[in-house]
Amino acid sequence: MNQRPLSLIERLYVREVAQGLALTARHFFANMACHIARAVGLRVGKGQTVTYQYPEERRPFAGRLHTRHRLTRRQDGTPRCVACMMCETVCPARCIHIVAQEHPDPNIEKVPKVFDIDLGVCVFCGFCVEACPEDAIRMDTGIVELAAYTREGMVYRMDQLLG
Ligand code: SF4
Ligand code: SF4
Repeated sequence: MNQRPLSLIERLYVREVAQGLALTARHFFANMACHIARAVGLRVGKGQTVTYQYPEERRPFAGRLHTRHRLTRRQDGTPRCVACMMCETVCPARCIHIVAQEHPDPNIEKVPKVFDIDLGVCVFCGFCVEACPEDAIRMDTGIVELAAYTREGMVYRMDQLLG
């Protein structure tokens, strides 16, 4: 790909830094003006500027937000998952890895022996949840902080997903 060489002015990034500072300052003073207006009784009932004191205070999530996955359990505590591989097949990021084994209950064909999701690769599309015929996987934990120090740390195993 042909890229235009940057000029000296562009390589100094002075204009870009100034633009960033101006944007931050604009939001700062606009928010401060709104807070003062509300404090003196103006802007009542109008849109408010809100600051959440994260992480102590968290913004409420929409009910349909896709957050960290979990595997659901049957009443006896065993995974609902029947290792049908539907989620692994539909996953566009190819980040689900399942190894099936026979279930001790003859009425249930299979159960996962391994069920890993690499959340470092997952795009949080929710296709796995939609494809599951057993309601065995959900993305409703409300957990969005998923950082890890290593790539391996982003791979969630079955015991972590079962909670
Ligand atoms: S949310 Fe999407 S990308 Fe992530 S595991 Fe499910 S199907 Fe794959
Ligand atoms: S689609 Fe549901 S039942 Fe099938 S392997 Fe995935 S989680 Fe298990």
